[in-house]
Amino acid sequence: MHISSFNPYGWLQKSLGTIHRANWYRQVKTVNSLPGAVIELEGRKLVNFASNDYLGLAGDERIISAAIKAIETYGTGSTGSRLLSGHRELHHNLETAIANWKDTEAALVFSSGYLANLGTITALVGQKDLILSDQYNHSSLKNGANLSNAKIIEYLHCNIADLRKKLHQNRNQYRRCLIITDTVFSMDGDICPLPELLSVAEEFNCMTLVDEAHATGVLGDTGAGCVEYFHCNNYPLIQIGTLSKALGSLGGYVAGSRELIDFLKNRAATWIYTTGLSPGDTAAALKAVEIIRKEPERIKRLWQNINYLLEKLSSKNLLPSKSSIICLGLDSPQAALNQSETLQQAGIFAPAIRPPTVPTSRIRLSVMATHTKAHLAQLVQAFAN
Ligand SMILES: *Cc1c(COP(=O)(O)O)cnc(C)c1O
Repeated sequence: MHISSFNPYGWLQKSLGTIHRANWYRQVKTVNSLPGAVIELEGRKLVNFASNDYLGLAGDERIISAAIKAIETYGTGSTGSRLLSGHRELHHNLETAIANWKDTEAALVFSSGYLANLGTITALVGQKDLILSDQYNHSSLKNGANLSNAKIIEYLHCNIADLRKKLHQNRNQYRRCLIITDTVFSMDGDICPLPELLSVAEEFNCMTLVDEAHATGVLGDTGAGCVEYFHCNNYPLIQIGTLSKALGSLGGYVAGSRELIDFLKNRAATWIYTTGLSPGDTAAALKAVEIIRKEPERIKRLWQNINYLLEKLSSKNLLPSKSSIICLGLDSPQAALNQSETLQQAGIFAPAIRPPTVPTSRIRLSVMATHTKAHLAQLVQAFAN
């Protein structure tokens, strides 16, 4: 091959230029420590308000040991798809533990929460069907909807009147209908009005899929999520979540009826045609569920921390939050970047979240059960200055 001037990728440089000019450019940052309330980020110790490890379990010794033991017993990889050679008793045990916790008949674990959403949505609806989707839904719900080929209609964020209006106008032209929503919205921290949503679902004969990624381990008496928080366990729901946030591992799950899970095992392409969750990740998540259920004081401590910060930061431009995600609105991407930089100089890691991830720029704080009073006070002080 000779070196030629043929370059069909010239547009990449232009496109990157546009991203830079809009202040939308993003890069990875290297963390050099165990996960926790304090991390070492590029050589500096910082109090960490950027982690989804809400209960401080990702660095827990018991979970680390469970993962090591599983790797020693079953190896590093599960070596095949679950239906061929990739199924272990660990998967069965984790799925049983999740179903018990979520109070559903059954559960199924996927390689990530993202894949759980893609696989479930595409299995449930197709060309003849309708999806009603909250406008602020997570990327995995939106992309799952796109991949399904169903007709997608977005409703205004958490707006039940708008949802009902759109169902009224469109529902009877389609076969099945699926309502999809985050329960705790990942970039805002507010909660979907689940009971009202479910009564609309019943009125219009819709299936409802809720994404509990940021609610699992956070909301509800046992941390089972928003469904538990609103006591909606008896509704015919599809509950999706991740093993990678409060559970400190990697992977995703779907919890629901035995029929639903049986159907997904036969129809969800992102479960059938991918390698089973690794033994280490599976064992870590299983241990995490066990610890969360045995040590409810972790969730109590998390909520003490959340309520403390909501009160101390109440004079700031807080977005409405009822979870471990607390956001402070800022006028521009540059203002958000500057604020994040100032916080970092004060020893705090709190990222700026900008378009296109969100419509308006903000500082996004993730609260952990393992933040101490001193960590929280340092944050409040940094904002006061
Ligand atoms: C993080 C997240 C996911 C994806 O979960 P992963 O296991 O990290 O792939 C899905 N939905 C929501 C709402 C999330 O915040």
